Amino acid sequence: MKVIEVLIEYSIQSLNRPFSYLYNGKKNISEGFRVLINFNNKQIVGYVLKTYETEKSKEELQDDLGFNLEEIIDVIDESPLLNKDLLSLADQVSEYYLAPKISVLQAMLPPSLSPRRGSLKAPKIAYDQYVKVIDNNEEGLTAKQIELLRLLSQEDKVLKREIKSKAILDKLIEYHKVSIEKVEKRRLSLPNYSYHEPPQLTDEQQRVVQEFTSSEDEIYLLEGVTGSGKTEVYLHLSEKVLKEGRDVLMLVPEISLTPVMVEYFLKRFANNVAILHSELTPAEKYDEYRKIANGEAHIVVGARSAIFAPLKNIGLIILDEEHVESYKQDVTPFYHAREVAIMRGKMHHSKVLLASATPSLESRARAQKGVYHLLRLPHRINAQPLPATTVVNLADYRNLDRDSYMFSLRLRKEIRGVLDRKEQAILLINRRGFSSSVSCRKCGHVFKCPTCGIALTYHKSDLMLKCHHCDYVEKNPEICPECGSTYLMKTGFGTERIEEEVNRLFPEARTLRLDSDSAKIRTKIPQIIEQFRNKEADILIGTQMIAKGHDFPDVTLVGVVLADIGLSMPNYRSNERAFQLITQAVGRSGRSDKKGQAIIQTYIPSHYAITLAARQDYELFYRKEMEMRKIQSYPPYTFLASVTLSGKTEDHVIEGIYEVVDFLNANLQDEAIILGPTTPYIPYQGNRYMRTALIKYRNQNLIHDVLKKLLDVYRQKSGLSLSINIDPYNF
Ligand code: ADP
Ligand code: ZN
Ligand code: ZN
Repeated sequence: MKVIEVLIEYSIQSLNRPFSYLYNGKKNISEGFRVLINFNNKQIVGYVLKTYETEKSKEELQDDLGFNLEEIIDVIDESPLLNKDLLSLADQVSEYYLAPKISVLQAMLPPSLSPRRGSLKAPKIAYDQYVKVIDNNEEGLTAKQIELLRLLSQEDKVLKREIKSKAILDKLIEYHKVSIEKVEKRRLSLPNYSYHEPPQLTDEQQRVVQEFTSSEDEIYLLEGVTGSGKTEVYLHLSEKVLKEGRDVLMLVPEISLTPVMVEYFLKRFANNVAILHSELTPAEKYDEYRKIANGEAHIVVGARSAIFAPLKNIGLIILDEEHVESYKQDVTPFYHAREVAIMRGKMHHSKVLLASATPSLESRARAQKGVYHLLRLPHRINAQPLPATTVVNLADYRNLDRDSYMFSLRLRKEIRGVLDRKEQAILLINRRGFSSSVSCRKCGHVFKCPTCGIALTYHKSDLMLKCHHCDYVEKNPEICPECGSTYLMKTGFGTERIEEEVNRLFPEARTLRLDSDSAKIRTKIPQIIEQFRNKEADILIGTQMIAKGHDFPDVTLVGVVLADIGLSMPNYRSNERAFQLITQAVGRSGRSDKKGQAIIQTYIPSHYAITLAARQDYELFYRKEMEMRKIQSYPPYTFLASVTLSGKTEDHVIEGIYEVVDFLNANLQDEAIILGPTTPYIPYQGNRYMRTALIKYRNQNLIHDVLKKLLDVYRQKSGLSLSINIDPYNF
């Protein structure tokens, strides 16, 4: 008999410990296998941590352990899910983020392999069946059989489903003349690009490549202005690494937004490339994952979770647009792909290249201290100047257009110019939907999400109110549920409203809109980007999605309709976010031979995040913002961790969070600053109330130990659940 210790699939801290089961069967089983088990009268999936043989009977074991033992129901896998390296990575990630290990495993594996019940219904391997001739001897065959055998002999490989005369084929199989060969299928269909001859690197690119390859350092930060040719540097370095027989991991923030990156890699490396990101179907994910695990692909281009791709011999990890916050997962285990990249880099002795036009302050500060090796591409390819930028003060009435409260006179004039010259424009407004909130004029009732408690946004295209935090939607209301009034008011504006305004002011302009509403349909985003590239529209209106990495040669105007959105958020990163967004957006203008310009509309024209983004002056922004962070003791001068307590009874949660804060104060004393307790921006989730506290600290090891102790205390408390976010962003 075997004792099996498993982690169960629920990723909450209170269940983050091994549970013991028994196994009497004959199947192979060891660490890293999934098993089907009974847990509280429910069939769920467990992940095997450890197995050992025992001579004892079930009763003796139960007496020893002091609880009842059950047998597992079945063994799911035939081999472990992860290799040694990835197992060790899972341990490191779960240790650093103090996250339940099962949640890390679930984040690492595609749906078909994930240790959770849903995986049992997820796609299985699909095969193509090929017919192969194994014996040409025609003795004893009928004429029809000989005809098919001869036909097949002339072909290299024939798909079984393509052969029409099934009965004759069956006979040939029966007589052992042909055999059926099963080959794993790749369900992701990628375009077949012809090889693309690399361009000659510019002197600047050459210098960066040279410095990177000749240095012994492990982590690099490439600071390259928008349009400086960073991608070509990635391709060049990747080629070198592949030639040395090692693998390349290329991460991009959101693949659907940057289909060109995949295109570049496919053109250069064709079938050696596997793709991993959240927009793939579970079947496609599974196939790509196996292609990597089987060693058939040596380059992975992917989004955040691709950092866990099962490449065996990584020689280079690249994070493009390393500042983008989607690299941080915002649910348990709350990992950041950059930190994991650094862990993986150490394991494989491979170099890590972080790159951006606007590096995160954390990365740039580390480069400043020499922890990362700083590389620079300060000029655009072909020495194109950066776009001329104008900041328009919306608080000055002279700038306003009487006919439109969204566009200033200047922005309207420049859009007109672009349309007349048959060029293209991008308009950025970092809010989707039509208006940002709906309320009752009579009683003041605000329509809020019943799950999260935040204001709902009105979407005109489908006449719905939507929560921008969860999936909640409801039909656009006609009357106030509180007082019955029909006088409902919509305030604020988003992408839909801007599109309507453009159509009103410039009826002849063809517009496209890109925001996460477009992402509801899988292929929609690349399609919109392609349409705009092909000049099927004159104006692209969108959220931050349009600011990222695109290369539209005919765009000569970028308009930031309201730069202030976000700056008013009570968040230590809001200046940085605004600066990055505006800089990246402005960088979309004038990327080819035509001169570009940008118009930034704002009520706070003297805010340094805006003035410096307008000048694309990263350096000065970095220095100013570092001063602010220093004064306020925020990262990179400190580290942050947040502790969130949730439960069904609000009073219990409040009582609990005060206990947590007391515990932290008692154990950390002068070593940290504890902020809170506070009610988070999203005050409740479903029927659970939330309260949170923030810890600012310098000594990582100490905090780690104290938080572990805290978790131990809270593991026993029923009704309350504690979650920890290391390096949180939303404070
Ligand atoms: P970034 O990512 O730094 O914003 P890109 O990598 O998109 O910039 O490069 C900008 C443009 O310059 C692209 O159209 C790219 O094909 C082109 N480019 C890059 N390197 C070279 C080169 N060495 N010679 C010619 N064109 C180049
Ligand atoms: Zn009302
Ligand atoms: Zn919600």
